[in-house]
Order: sequence, then C-alpha cells, then structure tokens
Amino acid sequence: PAFAALGLSAELARACSDVGYVHPTPIQVQAIPPLLRGQDVLGLAPTGSGKTAAFALPLLQRRVAGRQHAFRRVRVLVLVPTRELAQQVGEVFRRLGASFARPLKVAVLYGGVSVNPQMMRLRGGADVVVATPGRLLDLLDRNAVRLDTVEALVLDEADRLLDFGFAAERERVLAALPAERQNVLFSATFAPEVQALADGLLRDAVRIEV
Ligand code: AMP
Repeated sequence: PAFAALGLSAELARACSDVGYVHPTPIQVQAIPPLLRGQDVLGLAPTGSGKTAAFALPLLQRRVAGRQHAFRRVRVLVLVPTRELAQQVGEVFRRLGASFARPLKVAVLYGGVSVNPQMMRLRGGADVVVATPGRLLDLLDRNAVRLDTVEALVLDEADRLLDFGFAAERERVLAALPAERQNVLFSATFAPEVQALADGLLRDAVRIEV
C-alpha cells in the first residue's frame, strides 16, 4: 500500500516521499492505522524495521500537525535508552516535520553533556521531546520542562530502557504526565519484564509484530 492509504494526510505522505520513503515497511503498515485512531500499540520490532517512522508519522499527524499556539506545548514524549538513539529519533521527527507550515520544534535531551544548552532549547517550548529518562528527570527537577500537556508517550527500545534502569525512574516520569494519554511501547525482545512494563502502561493495546 501507499502511505496515504494508511490514513496519512497529504502533508505527511509528501514528507515520506521527501525523505525517500517509497513504500511503508511492514511495521509501518501495521502500526500507523491504530496509532492514527488514537489506540495504544505494543510493537515487537527490531532496529532497521522502520519502527521510528511507524510511530513518528501518526503521532505527528494526530498530535502536532495543524496546531497553532503562540507557545509550543509538549504533545509527544519519546523515551529512549541512549544518547545515540535520542539523536536518531529526534532526527527522524525533524525530517518528517521539516515542511510543516508552522516549523516543528523537537528537543533532544540526554545525559553526559552540559544541561544548559538543553535548558535554553526548552525555553520557547517544544512540540516533541525525545529524551533519556535520567536527563529528563533532571530537567523536570529544574522546572525546565513541563509534561502536563503530553498526549502521547512512546517507550522506544523498552527492553534496553529497562537494562538502563528505567524500572526505578518509571514512577517519577509517569507522575509528570497526564493520566489520560496514548501509549506506545516498542521493543526488540519480549522478556517478562517488558511484558510487565507493557501491562502497567498500555490500555487495550493493539499488538503488532514483524
Ligand atoms: P528504524 O528501524 O526506525 O531505525 O529505521 C531504519 C532505517 O529505515 C532508517 O534509515 C530509515 O530512514 C529507513 N526507513 C524507515 N522507513 C522507511 C520506508 N518506508 N522506506 C524506506 N526506508 C525507510
């Protein structure tokens, strides 16, 4: 199928061709329609499957595109295990949102570097935040970011998030978010800990696998 046949708007379908995507990958075919409907999704998909665009495209369309506010509010929060993945995921959102009439603002937050540039970047607000949990909690403690407007939460590479200690950070992150929100969890493996995390987070999730 074509991207537009999955329910993506002309604007997002054009963004796909602009970045060189011709056909949706299998994970995109399965994930995009339920995410556009606002459903929770549990995805078992390895890196290289196109999983990033599988959640970025529908969440941009449903939660960000067409919003006109003087001050940007964080609508989509993506939690990732590492700095490298944060940069990669942030770049996918930026590229897919590059031709929005109102420029998309993506804040990428990770530890191991000075916090000040990230605080500066958050000043004018952001539409999308991609973060590692430790640095996100640090910025929350500094009141540098507000997450009470988040409409969709993504846990990307959830198995590795748990490896990096997310179980201990989970409650504090979730406490900063509205209870009512769309939840997405992607993982390359399905260990019992991942299932337990999914059970606590997702509601009536559509389960997809490639
Ligand atoms: P990911 O699994 O999200 O890390 O994506 C793996 C690679 O596939 C990235 O380089 C993407 O740019 C690319 N990609 C994602 N979706 C498509 C698509 N529909 N067609 C071609 N390449 C894609």
